[in-house]
Formats: sequence, structure tokens, C-alpha cells
Amino acid sequence: MQGATRLQAETSLAINEKRGSVMMVTSDVACQQVLMVNLFFIGAPGARTGEWTLVDAGVFNCAARIKAAAAELYGANSKPNSIILTHGHFDHIGAVKELAEEWDVPVYAHPLEMPYLTGRSSYPPPDPTVGGGAMARLSFTYPRGPIDINDRVQALPADGTVAGMLGWQWIHTPGHTPGHVSLFRERDRTLIAGDAFVTTKQESAIAVLTQKEEVNGPPKYFTPDWEAARRSVETLAALEPNIAATGHGLPMRGAEMQRELQELARDFERLAVPRQGRYVGHPAMADETGVVSIPPAVSDPMPKVLVGVGVAALAGVALYALSHRESDGARRKVTTRRQRKMRARNKAF
Ligand SMILES: [Zn+2]
Ligand SMILES: [Zn+2]
Repeated sequence: MQGATRLQAETSLAINEKRGSVMMVTSDVACQQVLMVNLFFIGAPGARTGEWTLVDAGVFNCAARIKAAAAELYGANSKPNSIILTHGHFDHIGAVKELAEEWDVPVYAHPLEMPYLTGRSSYPPPDPTVGGGAMARLSFTYPRGPIDINDRVQALPADGTVAGMLGWQWIHTPGHTPGHVSLFRERDRTLIAGDAFVTTKQESAIAVLTQKEEVNGPPKYFTPDWEAARRSVETLAALEPNIAATGHGLPMRGAEMQRELQELARDFERLAVPRQGRYVGHPAMADETGVVSIPPAVSDPMPKVLVGVGVAALAGVALYALSHRESDGARRKVTTRRQRKMRARNKAF
């Protein structure tokens, strides 16, 4: 491996190290994984109350864990200036209502995401037939809203700035949801991409558990507009980010991530779009009032009895494994395996 590249790999290991219950993505971006989803703290450890921002709010029942991580980073009772939502799917808004009320802070989201955050519209139904694994199979059980935080949520400023996040801009990246946004900081080319693309194969419980890093399109079962999703990935790839921190999977950086992201943008149809499915070629239509039309459900090629048995078994395995993965011991094992992989990769060059 060339000296510069080796340095980059070593630096990335140091930067991605765990610090308490979070992982430092940069010196002022921390990632917290709660079950299978990521949320982010923007602001260097030690930042004063009102000088940091929470991006996304995890899955249900995780407010206490987010507050514990915030206390580790910023001190007990420290409060952010705001909460920014990349989108309103259940696994990104779990604690938003409770935290916004307790902290007494505004929540910002894109205007086209408002219907799902103000009780006006549910998201289109997920499509469990798109394949790829147990997470997709189980998707028919996932809540699709809406929640109602009407008294807290505000539209992101139209000029692309992000309240409280100096140097960052928001970018409309629809497709996975109508008002999905990504956050980008030019200075160090850090990208928080939500679910516009992800760095694991989110449809597969095995990939989600092992956190194998690979750039993938948005989670298939919950993406109802593939043409918009493709344009959004093109937009993000054109930014040439150095660091990609996404809603699912470990943060990735450097040449390998960049190569995979460019490839995803170039060959989105083959790499990201399911071969068939409810929304392939027939997007769900939505406007500022919410979903206005959805295509009819497609027939499921898997026999119903198999789905029933398989899903019950997979649900048990996935939930058991996910809950156990949460232990510190398991987390350390994941990091160690990753470190071994990185070292082996370094040696190979
Ligand atoms: Zn999502
Ligand atoms: Zn998600």
C-alpha cells in the first residue's frame, strides 16, 4: 500500500474508534448506533449547551440511550440547539417527540416530509417482495406513520443552510421518501446521507448484524420512487464526499467508498433497483399534502405458508441477535473484526 493511502487507512481507524457509546466519525461528528439505525451528534465533545445538533432520533424506546450519549459527549443536562430529520421513517424518529419536548428545541425537516410528521399522511406501504433478505421480508410489520410533532417541526430554511450547523448545507435527496434530505459539509467533505444510500445491505439481517461495509442503494423495501432515488445518488456522488455516514451501516471514507459510490451512481439500475416490485417503474406519487397515489400491490412469488413460517423464525433470530449485538462485548468483537480486516487489507497491498 502506498504511504499516503496507508496513512489514510490508519487515520480512519483512529477516527472511527469508539468513545463511550458513540463512534467518532470526525472530531465533531459522532455516530450512535441504536439497534440497526444510526443517529448523529454534530458538535465537538465538550461543546456547550445549545452549540450542538442532533441528526435523526433513532428507533422507538431509545430516548434514554440518546440522552446518555449526549451526556457523555456534552455533559449532564446539556441540550442541543435543534434536531434535524433526514426523513420521517419510524427508525429515524423514534425519540424525536420525547426529546424535542424535554429539550424544548425545534425539529427541522424538508417541507415535503411534513405530512408524515404532522399526522396528515402515512408513507406508502413497504414492498416485502423486493427480496434481499429478512429485513425486507419483515418490512410489512414496520410502522409507516404518521407521527404528529406539529407544534415542534419547522421547514428547513429555503437557502440550504441548516439552523445551528455552521458550514453545513442540506440537499434535497428524494426517492426513499419525498422530503428526504442529506447534509454535507464542504470543508472536510463529510456527508450524512440518511437513507439516500446506505453502507450496508439493509435488506439482509446477516449483513445488518455483521455490519459488512459496502455502498448500497436505499433500503429497497421502503423506497417508492426509484427514478428520484437514482437522481439523488447521482447528486451525492457528484459532491465527491470524503466521508459517508449513512442511516444504516458503519461510516465509510476514502478511496474505496468513493469508488463504490461512483459505481452506484453510474450503474444504479443494476446495483440498486430491484428487478421487480410494486414501485419499480410505478412510483408512489406524493405532494405537500402527503401520498396522493400508490400502484397496486404485486403478487408475492413466495408461497404464503413459507412466508409465515420463515418470517416468524427470522424475526426471532434477528431480534435475538440484534439485542445481543447491543452488548459492549459484542460491539468490541465487531470493531476487532473490522480492525483485523483493515490490517489484512493493508498487508495485501
Ligand atoms: Zn428510511
Ligand atoms: Zn432507515
